[in-house]
Amino acid sequence: MTTYETIIGLEVHAQLRTQSKMFCGCSADYAAAAPNTHVCPVCMALPGALPVINHTAVEKTILAGLALNCTICEHAVFARKNYHYADLPKGYQISQYELPFCRDGWIEVEVENKPGFSEKPGLSKRIGITRAHLEEDTGKLVHGGSEAGDTRLSQGRGSYTLVDLNRAGVPLLEIVTEPDIRSPEEARAYLVKLQQILRYLGVSSADMERGAMRCEANVSVRPVGQEKFGTKVEVKNLNSFKSVKLALEYEVARQIAALERGERVVQVTMGWDEERGRTVVQRTKESSDDYRYFPEPDLPPLVVDRAWVDEIRSRLVELPDAKIARYVNELSLDPRDAQLLAMDRGVAEYFEATLATLRNQVSRRNLVSSAMGDAKIAANWITGELFRLMNAAGAGIEAVKVAPAALAELLGLVAAGQVNQNGAKRALGAMFVTGQPADQVIRELGLAQVSDADALAQAVTDALAKFPAEVARYRGGEEKIFGWLLGQVMRETKGKGNPAVVRELLEKSLRG
Ligand code: ADP
Ligand code: ZN
Ligand code: MG
Repeated sequence: MTTYETIIGLEVHAQLRTQSKMFCGCSADYAAAAPNTHVCPVCMALPGALPVINHTAVEKTILAGLALNCTICEHAVFARKNYHYADLPKGYQISQYELPFCRDGWIEVEVENKPGFSEKPGLSKRIGITRAHLEEDTGKLVHGGSEAGDTRLSQGRGSYTLVDLNRAGVPLLEIVTEPDIRSPEEARAYLVKLQQILRYLGVSSADMERGAMRCEANVSVRPVGQEKFGTKVEVKNLNSFKSVKLALEYEVARQIAALERGERVVQVTMGWDEERGRTVVQRTKESSDDYRYFPEPDLPPLVVDRAWVDEIRSRLVELPDAKIARYVNELSLDPRDAQLLAMDRGVAEYFEATLATLRNQVSRRNLVSSAMGDAKIAANWITGELFRLMNAAGAGIEAVKVAPAALAELLGLVAAGQVNQNGAKRALGAMFVTGQPADQVIRELGLAQVSDADALAQAVTDALAKFPAEVARYRGGEEKIFGWLLGQVMRETKGKGNPAVVRELLEKSLRG
């Protein structure tokens, strides 16, 4: 059987986070609004209404373009893309065609392992970005009436469709890749990375489930060794990472099966039917000619001033890959921890703030840093205990009540020997719920570590008195029972004993 290679190119639409819509003053924050309340003559396309370009949307497009390693074009032009659909009141969409704001960029993705979790970062690949341009979103159609009992508008005479124009005119950033992607996993890795970058920049919530980031996938297959690309199919309605992967896997298998049967792949636009788990033909592919693009006569061509681009460049934040590299090279974190911390900008900032305060405290109190290093300690607590608490509570980092300084305070108390690991874990659990400072929680819950030799010696004596048989076994040479005995002494201290002191006392006592 012939072996085939998969070729994928992705087109992503991300809603830009702006206060107002792309070409009018209506609020772009329509999520909770009643239908057709965020509308005006411009976005309803009333005759004579004229568009005005949203400055912030252009800046966010350029910022995203810079982060995606694009060239920012000196001249940009808005263009009319003409087509007719009920969610498009003007009968055309204002988009960009020949002269977009951004072109020729790339994103680097890990290809060997699960995206974001490469054990060996460096096994990465560049996915070329053909262009990133700015356009406007369409309205939304709400279909109803086919369900039994829904007679609101159909008066029992079948189905109906409602038009909601709240979304019409919301700024959209469209990002198109080169046909560089070679598998559904790579497509997913690209989308995860793109989402991460857009979120880091704060230009889009890039939330796929909420429609703030939408994906169309172009896919073809070719026999390995053949240079010419196969005929591509475009798949729409991909509303989650999962459906992107499933739809691509399905489509690749469908195309290979067709070729193996001696059939041709026909260039069509398909939809992903989530429920049936298959792609469905929507229409035969239109070409760009069908859209009769021409420069938008109601808007001026733009000269993108280089000083302006430089000013926008100065707003770029450190992006995930750069952060990971810095965490590994400068803080000696292992790549996996670095990736976990850099995945979300909020988590990365939390980690960095915790570490800064922790270092401050360590030097202020003249504590000896543990061999593990402050960065590693902060990383372990955040990716371990804090993530566990967040998962259990279903909370994102924004909702965490423990301020970075409060976590650092707690870790400082551990370093100072005032609370042991166990006590600190319990303290963090309480702090997570109440938001109270570490010292208060430790005091109120009585979690302070006991290092007092007399008290601990008493605990050793009490524990050994309870388990004479085990003590005899230890003395008879069964050394591995030591850990168990240590556990019993810790229990006597209600978990608050300083483990190092307990160990020393227990050894002495068993020897004597
Ligand atoms: P169209 O003119 O049909 O829109 P484009 O050349 O603009 O096609 O490409 C649209 C998307 O399809 C891009 O992401 C591109 O990388 C991808 N693409 C182009 N050719 C192929 C192919 N043969 N197989 C898979 N993807 C492709
Ligand atoms: Zn409007
Ligand atoms: Mg195209």
